[in-house]
Amino acid sequence: MPVRGTHKLDEFEVVEVIGSGQYGVCKKVKRKSDEKVFVWKELDYGQMTETEKKLLCQEVNLLRELKHQYIVRYYDRVIDRSNTTLYIVMEYCEGGDLASYISRCKTERRYIEENFIWKILFQLLLALQECHRRREGVDKVLHRDLKPANIFLDANRNAKLGDFGLARILAHNYSLAKTFVGTPYYMSPEVLSQQGYNESSDLWSLGCVIYELCSLSPPFNAPNQEILAVKVKEGKFRPIPSHYSTELQAVIVRLLKVEPSQRASIDTLFSTRSLRLLLWEKELHQQESELKELRIKLKTREAALDQKEKDLTAREQGLHQKDRRELLELVKVKQPREGATSQENQPPIQPTSSKPFHPKPILKVKSSRT
Ligand code: ADP
Ligand code: MG
Repeated sequence: MPVRGTHKLDEFEVVEVIGSGQYGVCKKVKRKSDEKVFVWKELDYGQMTETEKKLLCQEVNLLRELKHQYIVRYYDRVIDRSNTTLYIVMEYCEGGDLASYISRCKTERRYIEENFIWKILFQLLLALQECHRRREGVDKVLHRDLKPANIFLDANRNAKLGDFGLARILAHNYSLAKTFVGTPYYMSPEVLSQQGYNESSDLWSLGCVIYELCSLSPPFNAPNQEILAVKVKEGKFRPIPSHYSTELQAVIVRLLKVEPSQRASIDTLFSTRSLRLLLWEKELHQQESELKELRIKLKTREAALDQKEKDLTAREQGLHQKDRRELLELVKVKQPREGATSQENQPPIQPTSSKPFHPKPILKVKSSRT
């Protein structure tokens, strides 16, 4: 994807409207150049002040930096001044959102498999960990609107946390705040009491989401917001259906502690047996794929070495043959010249005579005494 803000509106083609959310319309779009599918969120900034617009841009730029396996990827922003609309281009999650998934399960009257719930919890914890630790102290990215509708599933049913941080700006926006219609089922007691938002507020919301995945309804429910707020601050909720493990129930209890300081942190949650196992599994997978990569590299290197060896042998043979040829040449050249120069090694030269040479017979001399 090219650098920030490089796309133009007409580079995309709207495929369909996915739905309208709290802050604007979501559309499935296709990039004309490569047919790649994205989602864009349309936000009307017409009513925003300059400061709010700046904040929104800053926020979107920040979101672009959030690159994680379990976070919806933000790619670009396109501004159309003619209709004062900001288009936020992001990853398309074809599995839809968890809210739709939960309501499907509810209509079909079936509970969600426990393993899948653990997987979602695990992946969302990793996503939150990534965001919470990014801007240490200074400008941490908090979600602030964690709910099933903002959690997506990709084609492999992996979780993707979406709409990250947008709520921070948009909730403060005067014009858009008016459009806030949602019931705050997932809002933590401290946020309802306006005591500020921190990392553990996101974890409370996560607790509500996991509870809802088990029970198919949120932990705190009420006919109106006032009663809901009272129930949330009280922090009492029915246990999840009994066919789920006590370990899962215990994790939810640790996430839904009214007092933020008593709420489980991401790190301590990872020491839970099931989550620890998932972490090991993930590490193992990672090591496995690293090993696979190394094996491929090794094979390529081996093949290259083999080729090198073959080349060397061929060269050696070539040199050998050349050497032999040269030696033979040398011998050929050397032999006649040797007769002329190295006389010592030659047999004694015989006198040239027409007579044949007859060596004298060796006479046996008898002793005179005999
Ligand atoms: P909300 O305010 O309820 O979170 P949104 O504006 O985020 O609503 O989303 C509106 C619709 O678009 C929802 O149906 C949601 O599932 C869908 N949607 C939002 N983002 C994506 C995405 N990245 N991939 C697929 N569908 C999405
Ligand atoms: Mg959303």
